[in-house]
Amino acid sequence: MFSRNPETIVLHAGYRADPATGAVAVPLYQTTSYQFDSAAHASNLFGLKELGNIYTRLMNPTNDVLEKRVAALDGGVAALAVASGQAASALAVQNLAQVGDNIVSSTDLYGGTWNLFANTLRRQGIEVRFVDPADPENFRRATDDRTRAYYAETLPNPKLAVFPIREVADIGRPFGIPLIIDNTAAPVLARPFDHGAAVIVYSTTKYIGGHGTSIGGLIVDSGTFDWAAAPERQPALNTPDPSYHGAVWVEAVQPLGPIAYIIKARVTLLRDVGPAQSPFNAFQTIQGLETLPLRMREHSRNAEAVARHLSKHPAVAKVIYPSLQAGETRRRADAYLKGGYGGLLGFELKAGRDAGRAFIDALKLFYHVANIGDARSLAIHPATTTHSQLTPAEQAATGVTDGYVRLSVGIEHIDDILVDLDQALAAAVAI
Ligand code: PLP
Repeated sequence: MFSRNPETIVLHAGYRADPATGAVAVPLYQTTSYQFDSAAHASNLFGLKELGNIYTRLMNPTNDVLEKRVAALDGGVAALAVASGQAASALAVQNLAQVGDNIVSSTDLYGGTWNLFANTLRRQGIEVRFVDPADPENFRRATDDRTRAYYAETLPNPKLAVFPIREVADIGRPFGIPLIIDNTAAPVLARPFDHGAAVIVYSTTKYIGGHGTSIGGLIVDSGTFDWAAAPERQPALNTPDPSYHGAVWVEAVQPLGPIAYIIKARVTLLRDVGPAQSPFNAFQTIQGLETLPLRMREHSRNAEAVARHLSKHPAVAKVIYPSLQAGETRRRADAYLKGGYGGLLGFELKAGRDAGRAFIDALKLFYHVANIGDARSLAIHPATTTHSQLTPAEQAATGVTDGYVRLSVGIEHIDDILVDLDQALAAAVAI
């Protein structure tokens, strides 16, 4: 790639023009399958002797551009597009951990990821040990011989306390334990690979797509983690895989580059479990990706203005936004977020739970939806929606209180955003 600048990468990486037609916009290859050149070509593709298109559950030229662009944006070597952010986190862990293994995860997680980890993976025999990321050493304390990965979100809501990426990546590396980071809430602003993370996952449904049209997920491989350094630590990549005639992934993939992790995820998990991303969604997501750096700047600028406005409002008890934090939490925000503090913001109304719900009902410009990262402004009351399947103790651990309202500040004109918030606050106080 000829540029390290995100604004250029999102428009140019991974694609110049369609070789068949010269089309400049990335074409939508809405096809399930691909004509093989010969019997030998087909058998080479199936045997991974040659890389190329076989079947859209495994790879697709539209998805390929999305994968290459986001890998380039993050400074990684390869990526895998999957059906949703949930599929990305599930596959990212299942690619390393098997029955009897464990991972250590931050408590500060999206509610859906919490459920995946606390219930579904547990029932599949993978234990997830939750630790408070305020002290990075908690990750070391929870580690044992069967720990295969550490997991966290860069900018988890509702706490919006940026994760200590470098600190935890450095604890794991000597053990051969990679840090998997969900960077959904801070694409472009945070570059987890620069701070030692091994794998990034995204829900592209949010900021990367940006327009609320398409569910999708991505797993990005940094290419910098040495999976073979402690082979007993990563048996999934260092012992023969019967589903590929006994291939040992770190050895079999070596001629193709440092991409054993992502290739294995594609040719085993995506092949067998099947959560492929629709090429149509990849096409839509690429349209969003092309303006992502511009939008992240505007989201951050507007959210910063909303944070300052709400913190002066008499009806508001507390505003949670990275630039308003202090101490170590603020240091981490400044160390890991560059060019803005993101579009997510939380606040608590002095009048509590009923006022919080009244506020949501009074909004006119903000949409009331279970989503973040849309170009439009969004709001939700997490305790009764996104985090409602958690127990009260689990809600408290993730930072959700009764009166908490989450905003995903959009890129409308700031004056219109503030007018809507003020009229809804007035309605909430009046109940
Ligand atoms: N990670 C984070 C931080 C999220 O906010 C979400 C969804 O809200 C997900 C993962 C799951 O993504 P998806 O809804 O695309 O499955």
